[in-house]
Amino acid sequence: MKAPFDFPPRPVVPIAGRDESFPVHRIYCVGRNYAEHAREMGADPTREPPCFFCKPADALVLSGGTAAYPPRTTNLHHEIELVIAMGRGGRDVPVADALSRIYGYAVGNDLTRRDLQARAKANGEPWDVAKGFDDSAVIGPIQPAAVIGHPSKGRIWLRVNGALRQEADIADLIWRVPEVVAELSTLFALRAGDLIYTGTPAGVGALRPGDHVDGGVDGVGTIAHSIGPPTA
Ligand code: MN
Repeated sequence: MKAPFDFPPRPVVPIAGRDESFPVHRIYCVGRNYAEHAREMGADPTREPPCFFCKPADALVLSGGTAAYPPRTTNLHHEIELVIAMGRGGRDVPVADALSRIYGYAVGNDLTRRDLQARAKANGEPWDVAKGFDDSAVIGPIQPAAVIGHPSKGRIWLRVNGALRQEADIADLIWRVPEVVAELSTLFALRAGDLIYTGTPAGVGALRPGDHVDGGVDGVGTIAHSIGPPTA
């Protein structure tokens, strides 16, 4: 096909233990999915329908890499999360059928320009500039569910320069993995290759250029990455 410039490369994530990569379609994210984090953000953690937002697929940064400190913020935050990797999509997926459509899981860091998010909330504006910036979606290798199963409990944690910042258990998700897939599929036609960041527990906080971040979910894996110098 003729095009006026090269087609952009397809974002892919390595699959752990296999000589294969996971081609990424879309990145969806769940907001406020742990009660303690909802409270620290000043929200009511009652079980209202989950709040969703998106990031561009090319915002991914692989574990082991460096995420640039983004422009137009003085309050970049970390959010450690369990990530769902869809192997088969669909609309209106029943909760009971959701797990069968999941290829695997990964650990992710949903980087957030918290100051821009606060302004968006105050003004009733979209979250795109707070959440969907370049290098905003750190992710580790995809672990196939065929190997690790479907994790429903396990420690989730994040450290900055070796100091523990976030620690909780994925059993505390308000909307559990099958419910997240089912609800999201009533809003979008899910596709193989979709990633779903399931939300972060309490303890979010600021990152600075040069920081080293590591984190993990027991039974899923770990990630580690650096924060680069500010984008020129
Ligand atoms: Mn998040």
